Amino acid sequence: MKKVALLGATGSIGTQALEIVDAHPELELCAVAVGTRRDDAERIAAERNVEHVSVAGSPPLDELIERSEPDVVLNAVVGFAGLPATLAALERGIDLALANKESLVAAGDLALEAKERGGGRILPVDSEHSAAFQCLEGRSSETVDSLVLTASGGPFRGRTRADLASVDPSEALAHPTWSMGPKVTIDSATLMNKGLELIEAHFLFGLPYEQIEVVIQPTSVVHALVRFCDGAALAHMGYPDMRVPISYALTYPERAATATPALDLAAGLILEFAPPDEDAFPCLALARMAGETGGSAPCVLNAANEVAVASFLEGALPFLGIPDVVERTLATVPASPARDLDELVAVDAAARRTAATFTRELVH
Ligand code: MG
Repeated sequence: MKKVALLGATGSIGTQALEIVDAHPELELCAVAVGTRRDDAERIAAERNVEHVSVAGSPPLDELIERSEPDVVLNAVVGFAGLPATLAALERGIDLALANKESLVAAGDLALEAKERGGGRILPVDSEHSAAFQCLEGRSSETVDSLVLTASGGPFRGRTRADLASVDPSEALAHPTWSMGPKVTIDSATLMNKGLELIEAHFLFGLPYEQIEVVIQPTSVVHALVRFCDGAALAHMGYPDMRVPISYALTYPERAATATPALDLAAGLILEFAPPDEDAFPCLALARMAGETGGSAPCVLNAANEVAVASFLEGALPFLGIPDVVERTLATVPASPARDLDELVAVDAAARRTAATFTRELVH
C-alpha cells in the first residue's frame, strides 16, 4: 500500500489523480489539500475516508504532510504557492510527484539542496519531463548529447506577432491537444509554459541550458526525445493524456494500466517538427535568458508571468502584454543569489509589485 497526499485536489491534475488513485487498490489517499473549495475537499475526503484535509493553507501544507505521513506527495498546487510544499516533502525525504513546475523554476537550487538533505526523489508529473525521465533513466550523463522538449505550439501556432495583438482569453484557452487548467493553458499559448519547462528540465536532469532544445510538434504525440553521443535518439510517445505521467509518478517504479488507449499506428500518425517562432512568442527566449542568469531571475520571471497571466485572464492586459510585462520586470528587479525561502518570498513579492505596475501601464 502506498499512501498519497494530494495537494491541489480539485484542479485538472488533482481530478485526474483521484481517478488514478481510485482505480489502483495499492494507492491510498491519506491527505487532501485545496486552495478554496471547502465543500469539494470535504466531499473528496469523506468519499475516501481521508482524515487529513487542508483548505486555503489551513493547516499549512508542511503540517499536513507531517501529520499524514505519506509515501508520496503529489504537488499539483498552481503557481509559486506550491513552493513550501515542495520543500517540505523533499526535506523529509518523501517522494515528490511534481506537477507544480513553478516551485522548481522559482527555487530549483533550494529544492535540490532539500532533496539532497532528505534523500527522497522527484518524480516529474509534467508530461515532457516524465517522458525525459523515462528516456534518461539508467543512462550516464556523459552519454547524453541533448534533451529535446516538445511543444504543441498552442492555439496560436503559425500566427505572426501582428496576428496576436487582439486575441482574447477565450481564444487562448482553446488548446488544440491538451486539456489543462487556465494558467498552464495561457502559458502554452504564449510558450511560457515551455520556457518554465526548460528551467524545470535543467534542474531535474542536471543538464546545462545549451543541451536542452525546444521544438514544436503540433500533435503532442512525441513528449520528449533524448539524443545520445552515438547518434541514437530515444523518443517517448503516446496520446496527450495527463493520466499517463500521473500514473507513472504514483506507481513508480512499476507501471499500471490506465484508460488511455495504446498508440494506433495503423490509423496514421503525423509527426512533424519545427523550430519555435521566438518573434511571435518571446516568452521562450525570456525564460532561457532568466534560466541562464540563474539565482532569483527565474523566480522573477515566474512572478511577473503569474501577474500578467491573471490580468490577461481578467480581460485587462492584452496578450502581447504578457511577454512585455515579463521582460520589463526582469530588466527592473535585479537578480540575486536565492539562498533561502525567505529571500525568495521577498524577491517574488518585489517582482509581483513591479509587474503589477507595468501591467497597469499596459492596460490603459
Ligand atoms: Mg508539460
